[in-house]
Amino acid sequence: MNQLSQKTGSPLGVWVFPPKRANLSRTTGYQEYLYEILKQAGIWYEKLNGEDFPSALEHIRILVTAGDEEIPDKVASSLRAWVNNGGCWISIGGVCGQHDLFGVKADPPSWKGWGSGIGNLGEGYLTVEDKDHPAVAGLKRPLHYFNGVPVLPDGCRVVAKSLDVHQQPTDRALITEHTTGTGRAVLIAPDLTGTIVRIQQGTAITRDGIPAPDGSAALSDGALKSDDGIVLDWIFDRQPVPGAPGLQGFLDPAADQWREILLRTIFDAGVKTRTPLMLLWYWPRNLPAVGHISHDTDSNEREKALRLLEVLAEAKIHSTWMHIAPGYTPDIMQCIEQAGHESGFHYDAMTEGTRFCEEEFLEQLQQIEKALGGRRPRSNKNHYLRWEGDTEFYQWCSRHGITLDQSKGSSKTGEIGYQFGTCHPYYPVGPDGYLFNVLEMITPTQDLEVFAPKAIMEPILQVVTRHYGVAHFLFHPSHILTEGVDQALLEAVNRGRQLGLEWWTAEQISRWQYSRRKITWTSRDDNEVNISCPEKMQDASLLFLLPENSKVSVDEKDPARETIKRWGFTFQTTVLQLEPERSHRIKVD
Ligand SMILES: [Zn+2]
Repeated sequence: MNQLSQKTGSPLGVWVFPPKRANLSRTTGYQEYLYEILKQAGIWYEKLNGEDFPSALEHIRILVTAGDEEIPDKVASSLRAWVNNGGCWISIGGVCGQHDLFGVKADPPSWKGWGSGIGNLGEGYLTVEDKDHPAVAGLKRPLHYFNGVPVLPDGCRVVAKSLDVHQQPTDRALITEHTTGTGRAVLIAPDLTGTIVRIQQGTAITRDGIPAPDGSAALSDGALKSDDGIVLDWIFDRQPVPGAPGLQGFLDPAADQWREILLRTIFDAGVKTRTPLMLLWYWPRNLPAVGHISHDTDSNEREKALRLLEVLAEAKIHSTWMHIAPGYTPDIMQCIEQAGHESGFHYDAMTEGTRFCEEEFLEQLQQIEKALGGRRPRSNKNHYLRWEGDTEFYQWCSRHGITLDQSKGSSKTGEIGYQFGTCHPYYPVGPDGYLFNVLEMITPTQDLEVFAPKAIMEPILQVVTRHYGVAHFLFHPSHILTEGVDQALLEAVNRGRQLGLEWWTAEQISRWQYSRRKITWTSRDDNEVNISCPEKMQDASLLFLLPENSKVSVDEKDPARETIKRWGFTFQTTVLQLEPERSHRIKVD
């Protein structure tokens, strides 16, 4: 492959600055996670580095940078000329010394001294100032952030401002837009990548978390679980659950909202610069979201498993059974598999005599593998959502064939919803920036009618259709005979179908999301790109954001197209059959 064909040719360029060396202050973290954020969104982009400048600017119309870096004068002057000539620079967490280009000025520190005198946003909330701006459309409540560059407006349009961590107003601007010449410079001042990672993964777990002050989520229980590491706020980040007086939940996925601010800013730039943008939609057949039902088989009771199988047959879905050692008797295991359900693993580090360590994890996993006739499960949820440490657990999953985990989630009713900020399955990242090949798909609630009132069902389904993720409901076989639980499962499935969801197993979800990350875009020409995937992807949906009067062809044919609204923008969409060894040529005229 020559060098030219390795370039994707996208008019959307992405330049991530390397992390600063140890002991230097920084306004962003995990900048490289930006690539995963964009891959998750499926968007066609080109990865750039400093050496690509200024020549890269010849075919780039929109540039996204992450981090605050002193860029060389030569690069800075070419960037300024490019913006003046119609380009759009979207900068995250820094302005690279180009304050005037962004129409902002630095907010100076209150004190200069050893290790101080370096501006930082610290922790706070975004509040919308300009409700008409597409970047923040749909944001109804203040949005939590961590870290970023502190600036004051100095000629820019202020799209969003900062509230401090106690939600007191400040003068600081958080999202700004500045027109210069025929182009624009947009600043997203908070550390978008670091905020997403911090909310999704929480902090390392070494002790109990802080309980909710209303008594609805007693994290101080002497058992280390994933929720002990949550970083969102009990007061500001929860809201009342309609129909359940007194109960609050995390009903807005904060990390997804940050992702969408970036995507909407990019799409807005596409519209304003008349730049065609393309992406592979999250799900096949343009599904708005998918649903998933998991079961943790605590205590392996035969009669209850048989009843649950009847309920699932009535619901006409396939689900994922997380088997706790030693597993059901072979005949029940067979019934589950023959009915088409997936068998996963329920690692137990809670029961007396068990430990939270890789050796124990593998021992129990092998027991379940044996009970399944030698086939290793590929998905897992930890019993009681047990967790210790930071991301070490993902290494165990990765080393032993687990491709999807569900152990981040709610172990107490008062934390239902999105305390980890996302309804999307995501690839977690290690402290050194290493991306694990294990999808995390959070567990936002447990059994409806037992763990949480059925009132939470509708808010969860509304969140996932609004943010296009996965509606995950956990039903334990051990509760299936409790009055109302079987009906709640059927209602959730039917209501999800009404909203356009298909119900998938964990393995279907992880396979699809893994394949999506394998997509390649290659281009030799400004208006033409080839898309291919080494994995088969049936009914993959492509979205095109096109300038007025442009049209798109696929393999030199006018594809069957329809118009669809996503993130508040209007896209043309078509469905493709992606197969290994076959690429599709997309051309925009
Ligand atoms: Zn369990």
